[in-house]
Amino acid sequence: MDSRTSLPLLFDDKVSEGGGTQNNISQNNISQNNISQNNISQDKISETKTAELQKLALKVDACKKCLLCNDRKNAVLGEGAISPELLIVGEAPGFFEDQQKRPFVGRSGKLLDHLIETCLNMKREDLYIANVVKCRPKDNRTPTKIEINSCLVYLNKQVELLNPKLILTLGNTAFRALVDTDLGITKARNNLYSYRNITLVPTFHPSAALRGGKSVVDLMEVDFKKVRSILG
Ligand code: SF4
Repeated sequence: MDSRTSLPLLFDDKVSEGGGTQNNISQNNISQNNISQNNISQDKISETKTAELQKLALKVDACKKCLLCNDRKNAVLGEGAISPELLIVGEAPGFFEDQQKRPFVGRSGKLLDHLIETCLNMKREDLYIANVVKCRPKDNRTPTKIEINSCLVYLNKQVELLNPKLILTLGNTAFRALVDTDLGITKARNNLYSYRNITLVPTFHPSAALRGGKSVVDLMEVDFKKVRSILG
C-alpha cells in the first residue's frame, strides 16, 4: 500500500482511541507527506522543463528554416531560470552573443544587467532572457519579417514552457514581433499589452540607450521599475 492511502487509515484508528497527541503526530505526518509529494512533483516538473528546453536548443542548433543559418557561428536559444516570473525578449544575437552562444553579453548586456539589478532587484539568473530571432543577422541588421516569422515558433515554445508572469520586450523589433501594431516604443511604452494571455511591457533596446544616452536610460529605468511594481 502506498503512503497516500496508509496515512488517513492511521489517523482514523487513533480517533477511536481518543489519542489527541497521536492525532497531532499523524496530522504532522500527513503534512510532511504532502510537502514531500509537492517537492517530488516540483522536481518532476523542473526535470521535464529542463529536458524540453534542451531538446529545443538542439532543434535551434540544427535549424535551417531561414537564411540566417548560413552566417551564424552559434544559434542562441536563451538562458535563465526555468520557472521565471519575467521573460525578457530582445531582437537577435549580436557579434559577442553569436561567439559565446549566450544572449546579451556585449555592451548592451552590461546595461541590461545593470537595469535588472538596480531597478528589478534581481539577478539575470532569476529571470529568462531570449530573442525573437535565434541567429545573428550579418552586420547586426534588423531581421526581416520572414526571418522573424520562421523563428517565432521557438520563442512561442519557450513562452509555453517557461510560463512567465510578465514579458518585457526590448526595442521595436521584439515588440512588433509579439504585438500586431505599427506603434513605436516611445508611444507604446505608456501602455500594457498582452501576448498569449501574459502581460507584456515594451521598452527600448539597450543599444538604443547606448546611442541615445542618459535620457533613454532614464526612460528604461522607469519601465523596469514598472515591471518591478507589476511583479510585486
Ligand atoms: S533564425 Fe531561427 S528560423 Fe532562422 S535559421 Fe536561425 S533558428 Fe532557424
